[in-house]
This record gives sequence, structure tokens and C-alpha cells, in this order.
Amino acid sequence: MPHFICTACGMQYAESAAPPAACLICEEERQYVPPRGQTWTTLAALAQSHSNTFREYDTGIIGIGSTPSFAIGQRALLVRTDAGNILWDCIATLDDATVTMIEGLGGIDAIAISHPHFYTTMVEWAYAFSARIHLHAADKQWVQRPDPAIEFWDGETKQLWDGVTLVRCGGHFEGGTVLHWAGGAGGRGVVCSGDILTVCTDRKWLTFMRSYPNFIPLSARTVEHIGQALKPFAFETIYGHYFDRVIAQDGKTVLAKSVARYAAAVNGTRGYE
Ligand SMILES: [Zn+2]
Ligand SMILES: [Zn+2]
Repeated sequence: MPHFICTACGMQYAESAAPPAACLICEEERQYVPPRGQTWTTLAALAQSHSNTFREYDTGIIGIGSTPSFAIGQRALLVRTDAGNILWDCIATLDDATVTMIEGLGGIDAIAISHPHFYTTMVEWAYAFSARIHLHAADKQWVQRPDPAIEFWDGETKQLWDGVTLVRCGGHFEGGTVLHWAGGAGGRGVVCSGDILTVCTDRKWLTFMRSYPNFIPLSARTVEHIGQALKPFAFETIYGHYFDRVIAQDGKTVLAKSVARYAAAVNGTRGYE
């Protein structure tokens, strides 16, 4: 029986003879059902219409995205550290070329995902590379294809190995997670943020939302908590969730000023209310 994939958000569901009646992710207030209505595909069908594109940003950081764009359109990151490779976030399209190339780069030792919008076909990736998936337990209810490969972690941080830490920020989702790699950016540190910290279109600022498509903001308190969660970590570069959303330098300062700007805007203390 097929594992159907929602074409609007990319979530893959547990096997079923017929497509699910609705996508729980798209029906929820943070996503949306497109005007054309809900439609479904499979990994085999996607392999006929899509392939993956790779971009090496820096030593140890390679972006992987679907061409043409699929569902939300995010790209994942292959983070290649001395102690192992991590797939950060996930995309639906996984084809033979992608498996062959990633195997050639040392495979994937661990998969970690920022939040449920990017769970997509994570179980397929886990099987292709014999990797465990690390998800924050606060978002357990959103997993639509449960599998023994999924491990839930609790609390505020989880070290995958030395110098590689998952940090729970919350915000967009309760378990909203970013990845900190101390050895990235030539040892100055990297944060892979998904859209928990969203790199803005100008690539000079970050923003934070409960829903991006439906424009639901977060409170100042929640956004200030995101800033606090990353206080203990040093980092230079922030990789957002699209190919072009990268803050190359001074990421730590950009986070601090972006939290302050956001809090002032929602508190009405910035002068344009
Ligand atoms: Zn969906
Ligand atoms: Zn999202």
C-alpha cells in the first residue's frame, strides 16, 4: 500500500489504500489547503517529475532542494562534521541519484528536523541511510508516519555528539528546534534554523512567526525566549530554510537585534503603531 504525500506541505502519511481524507498539517491554522483543494502524490510519482539540486555553501554545509520546487519549497542541509554527517531538516524528494551522492559523501548518521512542516518523507531518508531521526517530543502529535527510526527528545538541548547540539527554541512550533554546530564557519559556529528563526528576504534580519502563510505573529515573550535559548552558543552564520536565505556573518548580533526589533514592534514601542 502506498504512503501518500500531501502536495501542499509534503507530509508523508502511514500506508493506506486510499489517500487520507484530509492533511492534518494543512488543515491546521499554521498551514493552508490550496484553492485547488487537497491533492496527493507518492515518492515514486515524484521521482518521475522532480530531481534534487545541491549547493555547497561552505566547508561541510551542502544544501539539498527539489527541482522544480515541491510543497513548501524548503531545502535541507547535509552538515558534514568530523564526527559524522547530519541531515538537517528534510525534503520530500529522495531519488537514487541523491542516495548515491550522499553515500559518496559519507552517508547520513543522524537526521534532525526543526518542526513538523519539514517532517515530509523523513522515514524514507532514515531507511535509505540507516539513520535515526531526532524530533522534539513536544511535537510528537504531528508525526503522521510513526516509525521505530524516530527518537523523541525532551528538554531544552540535546547533544548529538561533541560540538553538535539541538536547541529547542519553541515559537513557530512548541518543539521548534535549531541545530548548532560549533565547528562550522571555520570554527566560528553555525546555526541551522529552519523557519524557527526565519532569515528575512533582505538577509540582514531574522523574523519569527506562529504562521508564515497566515501571518500570525508570536508574543514578545516567546521571541525573547528564542533569543535566550541561543545565548550560550557562539555562531557566525545562520542558514535559513530556503536556498537563498543565509546570514553569512555576525549571526549572533543579527539574532539579538532582530529579537529586539520584533519585541518592540509587537509591544507597540517602536513608533509606528
Ligand atoms: Zn499537507
Ligand atoms: Zn513551518
